[in-house]
Amino acid sequence: MMVITIGKSPDNDYVIDDPQVSRHHARLTRDADGGWLLEDLNSLNGTFVNGAQVLKKRVTPADTIRLGKDRSLDFKELLRSKNDYSEEFNALKKVYEDYTREKIKIQSSNQFKTRLFQALPFAFLGIIGLVLNNSVGKGSTLWYAICMVLVICAPVVGVYLGARQSAKIPRQLQDLTNRFKIDYVCPKCGTFLGDIPWESLKNKKHCPVSSCQAKWTDE
Ligand SMILES: [Zn+2]
Repeated sequence: MMVITIGKSPDNDYVIDDPQVSRHHARLTRDADGGWLLEDLNSLNGTFVNGAQVLKKRVTPADTIRLGKDRSLDFKELLRSKNDYSEEFNALKKVYEDYTREKIKIQSSNQFKTRLFQALPFAFLGIIGLVLNNSVGKGSTLWYAICMVLVICAPVVGVYLGARQSAKIPRQLQDLTNRFKIDYVCPKCGTFLGDIPWESLKNKKHCPVSSCQAKWTDE
């Protein structure tokens, strides 16, 4: 269980030098299920959550916490006083999942097949035209020409469009990887975490960079 004490006195985890803040002003505790409890420690100017004064309240990082009249508290800053980056690290789970999903989507898109299949009905129309033309007996040359053009051109156009879109795939993958390298980084030191699944990183519990050692989990 993690406890962060907040106040003006230097023995607090998070020290705030501000006349509105009491020596031991408030305490933030993480309980077993990962939620946060904020307690006012009988402070002179009070503790406020989203504008309302509280003595004891469950809070989330999205809440606005204030001490006294206008000393606001940044949740992330509080956690940093304990080298705890778990809240920001948790957000990387989605980054990794999105990246993996997007990569598979790009790699598995077979544009050749898709475009060829889309072109086939037009070729088929041409074939029907040819059959009809022949069955009438005295076929028209113009009709014959139009049908032949359809039969030949439709697959060619299909293959051409497919090739053009397939050529874009390496570029799309490159863009995706570039974005991933910017987003999938240690929330403290900014080091790229590599193409390593989020769950595996979580098991390491902290950043491997020796000058960082940011805690990625609250255990
Ligand atoms: Zn780090």
